[in-house]
Amino acid sequence: MIDSKDKFIVKFRGVRGSHPKPERNFMEYGGNSACVEVNVNNHLIILDAGTGIINCGNELLQEHIAKAHKESINATILLSHLHNDHIMGLPFFKPLHQKDSNINIVGFSAYEEGLDAVISQLVFEKSFPLGLNEINAKLSFYDINDSYALILDENDNTPDMIKIEKEEDALPQDEEVVISCLKSSSHPKDGVMIYKIAYKDKSLVYATDTEGYIGADQKLALFARNTNLLIHDAQYTTEEYLNTCAPKQGYGHSTFDMALDTYKQSKAENLAFFHFDPNYNDEFLHEIEKHYTNSCKNCIVPKEGMEIVLR
Ligand SMILES: [Zn+2]
Ligand SMILES: [Zn+2]
Repeated sequence: MIDSKDKFIVKFRGVRGSHPKPERNFMEYGGNSACVEVNVNNHLIILDAGTGIINCGNELLQEHIAKAHKESINATILLSHLHNDHIMGLPFFKPLHQKDSNINIVGFSAYEEGLDAVISQLVFEKSFPLGLNEINAKLSFYDINDSYALILDENDNTPDMIKIEKEEDALPQDEEVVISCLKSSSHPKDGVMIYKIAYKDKSLVYATDTEGYIGADQKLALFARNTNLLIHDAQYTTEEYLNTCAPKQGYGHSTFDMALDTYKQSKAENLAFFHFDPNYNDEFLHEIEKHYTNSCKNCIVPKEGMEIVLR
């Protein structure tokens, strides 16, 4: 694991939405589906388990072997929701199959069964050779809703779940890393969890699979107020969203312009567009990048592998 004592490092592992796109002409921005790796004060937090998580796991395992298995692999995986493009990499995340790994899985279940039972069915029992109960790692599940936050203390990889009574409860103290969330119902059918990771005076907000509103998503803008990095769904161009033959309204995704609106309202420091349509090739995304970065100097069209250090 990266030494991130006192640091906040963000790495894009998969920026593609809907499904992976392993094709020539798409490789510069990358073909893997949603996954962002965050190393913060020696905690590894992974946002979503799209296919981008697979390389992340492979690298963790290589390091683990190079260190002769002396340090266990500890990770906290935050799932925005359970659509395929956000969970399909999970069974191939190799640390799951190591006895000395401790993996926390955080998310919400919109069903009667808990998160563990739903993931067991969706990701393992019916679509993978192993059942969840045959996984070697020590797994802990956290069914979360936006009344709660998770606190990761220094040198302790087991998060404490606390009820948020007032806004200050979600502010990190001393060396704590705090994960808080906001449930959005703008993504069909069961909604999506938006996460904030905060450490000292730095934070990032991960808002994928969310659709914008007229005048920007006010709840999200408030939740992301003054954050250092807002990672926001930007699946479509406005033209495609409004296309009269095949409109994309109600699909639960935003346009680049909607992401920009929410970013401006939130007064976030930087904006990373995310969850690109699998039909947008490198040439097209180059054009998008040119257009948006010309008018907004803190806007990023991230490529797979790109790393940002929050300072
Ligand atoms: Zn998605
Ligand atoms: Zn989705």
